[in-house]
Amino acid sequence: MGESRAKSLAAELEIHTFRDLIYYFPFRHLDRSRFYKISELRGEMPLVQLKGRFISFEIEGEGAKRRLVGLFSDGERLMQIIWFARVNAMKDAYRPGVDYVIFGRPTEFRGNYNIAHPEVTPYDPAKPPTGWQGVYNLTDKLRRAGWSARLLSTLSSNLLSHPGFAGVADTLPPEIVEAYRLMPLQDALRNMHFPADTATLQKATERMKFEELFYLQLHILRFARSRNRKIRGLIFARIGDYFNGFYHHCLPFELTGAQKRVLREIRGDMRTGRQMNRLLQGDVGSGKTMVAFMTMLMAVDNGYQAALMAPTEILATQHYETLREWGEKIGVTVRLLTGSTRVKERREIHAGLLDGSVQLIVGTHALIEDTVQFRNLGLTVIDEQHRFGVAQRARMWAKNSTPPHVLVMTATPIPRTLAMTVYGDLDVSVIDELPPGRKPIDTMLRYDDNRMEVNRLIGRELEAGRQVYIVYPLISENPKLELKSVETGFERISGIFPQYKVSYVHGRMSPEMKDAQMQKFVSGEARILVATTVIEVGVNVPNASVMVIENSERFGLSQLHQLRGRVGRGAEKSFCILMTKQNIGSDTRKRLSIMTQTNDGFLISEADMKLRGPGDMEGTQQSGIAFALRVANLATDGYTLGLTRRAALQVLNGNPQLLEVDGPDFDSSEGSMPLSASSIDTLRRELRYRFMKKVDWSQIS
Ligand code: ADP
Ligand code: MG
Repeated sequence: MGESRAKSLAAELEIHTFRDLIYYFPFRHLDRSRFYKISELRGEMPLVQLKGRFISFEIEGEGAKRRLVGLFSDGERLMQIIWFARVNAMKDAYRPGVDYVIFGRPTEFRGNYNIAHPEVTPYDPAKPPTGWQGVYNLTDKLRRAGWSARLLSTLSSNLLSHPGFAGVADTLPPEIVEAYRLMPLQDALRNMHFPADTATLQKATERMKFEELFYLQLHILRFARSRNRKIRGLIFARIGDYFNGFYHHCLPFELTGAQKRVLREIRGDMRTGRQMNRLLQGDVGSGKTMVAFMTMLMAVDNGYQAALMAPTEILATQHYETLREWGEKIGVTVRLLTGSTRVKERREIHAGLLDGSVQLIVGTHALIEDTVQFRNLGLTVIDEQHRFGVAQRARMWAKNSTPPHVLVMTATPIPRTLAMTVYGDLDVSVIDELPPGRKPIDTMLRYDDNRMEVNRLIGRELEAGRQVYIVYPLISENPKLELKSVETGFERISGIFPQYKVSYVHGRMSPEMKDAQMQKFVSGEARILVATTVIEVGVNVPNASVMVIENSERFGLSQLHQLRGRVGRGAEKSFCILMTKQNIGSDTRKRLSIMTQTNDGFLISEADMKLRGPGDMEGTQQSGIAFALRVANLATDGYTLGLTRRAALQVLNGNPQLLEVDGPDFDSSEGSMPLSASSIDTLRRELRYRFMKKVDWSQIS
């Protein structure tokens, strides 16, 4: 193709090479033998094909608004076909009275449909269109420059029929293609663009998904295993007096089965000689803090120090108070280090950490600073990990000559498929059981019209001595957005409930101010807290029984679930009220009603991922997953992902030369698949091609 075309492909679609082009697959295929009638068109339809004649052409508007409007008839009804670019050329391109096939995306305007910039071809009754037409994603720029799905499809067709194509080597080793009964690459590529039929297209798609996910898994697992071999982990051989003493005499409650299981998993890691990198998932209120504390005791029992890092000062302080109380019972020294720790105390803590007299330290980012040095840090626990950057976590690694064990805790349940990719080299533990006696939270969807009723409920709970959260999407009113804000909310609520003290927090306040306001609510002096989502993470006020979320349609499901988790922490029945404006779409209603149907964070995160797509999930952006996955979808391809993980493990087990370093193996339960030398070359070539320049994956844990 000409240079300017090539340039536009490169700029708009990142297509630089033949390989890029042939891997640019249609996102769907259309049956070209099917013609729609104008009367059949509906809102939000994808591309459709119509047959008919142009009645007239008219140029309308001036300047930038200038457009060509063709009146098109399918014999029954009329519709407009519109061109905003190349107006004069298009006007002369088509003649009235000739049958044309129109191919494009219909848009609705006041009950009528039109199609802008369709593909138009003369209709030849001797050769009616047949077969499947690939539909490719094109940018507006490309479309305006005259690109069409048909043109892309022609380019792919040219490539596929080029004599060189027959020599293209498979990107997967034959051993894998055979063992997993995959379609060979050449067939798969051909069918991705020009499928023989739907069943073949499905097999081709499956093969391309497999390839994508397999290399991703191989890449992640190869790195993880190399790291396991390279880094010697601290060995906590003993369960000693601190752990046992606490466990047998000081537990404030019976551990749940899930807490015990997770502690066993952690204990298992710590005596293998590998460095633990474990993600601990547990819904809000599932009791992660106790697991963290008891893990820290394992470190102390073996003569090491442990650190717990939280994303906010409020949260760090709460953790500190809990851990100090527990620690006191068995004589473990716990200190708190945050940005607002006074200089004198800070020096004291620094010294205590260096000489080992401080056994457990709780803190914020302040812990990361280079001035904070340990005698022998054996374990770092990180709470609510997505608030910390990867680089910050890496800095904690460097605080001991042998990297400490790492336990990352999160209350945002991550769908299993995401955990296997974004956090693929972390082991995952799940607390899937809440402590007994929790009353489920009653979640309801309410509209602006129901405000009186909602206020009555709030009033009743306040009268009963409880506390109430009200969350807003904005800090202050923005004339451009019809959203409620903390500032006006504060005034309104103070007006409705003048007998109660209201505190408020948002992200634009100074930390001192925020803390003071927050403290008022924690102490119970303020009975209502008006806030933005800054309260999302971890705050624990068991007396709070109502969570009202204004403009709840603006929040993601996982975020709503996090907010809801602020209530239901005491013995009282709690309520979560999702407020929305009156006229929300049916999609939004469906999304929000998931919240009213379940309290299960995993179900919610799976649903969230299906609705929003994996690319919008927490953690996927910075990980570059979106880059690596173009055919496969983490929301729907969990089964294939499982297969590819097994294949990748088999390959690593059977071919240790793929690893960077020698050393012991930790997991070979999946069997092994020894490969030929040329297959190993294929793997290396593909890994290099796919992951070399694009993303630095090496820092993900
Ligand atoms: P999260 O997992 O959200 O961090 P927490 O660790 O803050 O949860 O625990 C929530 C509450 O449940 C705390 O008050 C804690 O003391 C309590 N808790 C934790 N484990 C148990 C248990 N096994 N039995 C009863 N209460 C528990
Ligand atoms: Mg917590």
